[in-house]
Amino acid sequence: MKDFTYHRAESLDEAVTLLASTPGAKLLAGGTNLLDLMKLQIETPRHLIDINHIGLDKVETLASGGLAIGALVRNADLAAHPIVRRDYEVLSRALVSGASGQLRNRATTAGNLMQRTRCPYFYGTTKACNKRLPGSGCDAIDGFSTNLAVLGASSSCIATHSSDMAVALRALDAMIVVIGPAGERRIALSDFHRLPGKTPHVETSLDNHEIIARVELPAPIGGRHVYRKVRERASYAFATVSVALIAQVKAERVAIDRVAFGGLAAKPWRVEAAEGRGFGHPGDIAEAAASVVLDGALPTVHNRYKLNLARQALHAALIDAQERRT
Ligand code: SF4
Repeated sequence: MKDFTYHRAESLDEAVTLLASTPGAKLLAGGTNLLDLMKLQIETPRHLIDINHIGLDKVETLASGGLAIGALVRNADLAAHPIVRRDYEVLSRALVSGASGQLRNRATTAGNLMQRTRCPYFYGTTKACNKRLPGSGCDAIDGFSTNLAVLGASSSCIATHSSDMAVALRALDAMIVVIGPAGERRIALSDFHRLPGKTPHVETSLDNHEIIARVELPAPIGGRHVYRKVRERASYAFATVSVALIAQVKAERVAIDRVAFGGLAAKPWRVEAAEGRGFGHPGDIAEAAASVVLDGALPTVHNRYKLNLARQALHAALIDAQERRT
């Protein structure tokens, strides 16, 4: 690990001022991804600003009927929050499917959004990786790409985003509120994570001097909430494919209100045209919706299986929704 200096911020204002005035600084919250990257020298900040003591750790209701989630609310606390469990169940389910109990106790809402890809070539520091070292190439494209992207990728990068939480937030139409030297700014989650294009190292629309303050959710929309995650081992692994689903159920028939996928792209993947298309049997609804969502997919020879897996995961999620009694 390279030498760095450390400063513990005591307020959001202090953190914003320090970040703006300290070239090469990074924010430290839970540290569950950043510290690993620093040990590998993939991240080499010259200065760390610890923001664990600046507040932003509350979940509060909004006058609009929605919910404000502080950036430093721990993943475990958010998953267990009674309002989240009652009104935003898909978020609670996504959170508990991510990482391990220990990591969820430490990881924060903002850190979860900002986590970097788990592409093995990104972590393999002898490999070419445009995300780690812009312009160096991408060894994954002709390499072992079994768990990489099938949608939204480019000739520069085929990495996926690994968050489960963000997939549920996408289905819930979350808004990210950020604060910088110029004041507050709101970014829809749909615009927060960027597709790689020619600049895969630019992963979000957050400016260098901005800090995520909170995530806001609109008023709850009801329906049956399901988060279905397919992964290589049940105990602890990132998604191969995941589905965040909010559905309506009438006897043997189901309808999709919202659906977003994880594990397919560099951002949570939602195609609104696949939603609100009426009731039908789960198999037919899954097939029709998946065809819309997967339109334009460009899989590699190693990850073509993800297309069928996404269909099957959605089908299973619709059956989960149908069979749930509450
Ligand atoms: Fe790097 Fe992206 Fe290529 Fe992986 S897919 S090696 S993260 S450029």
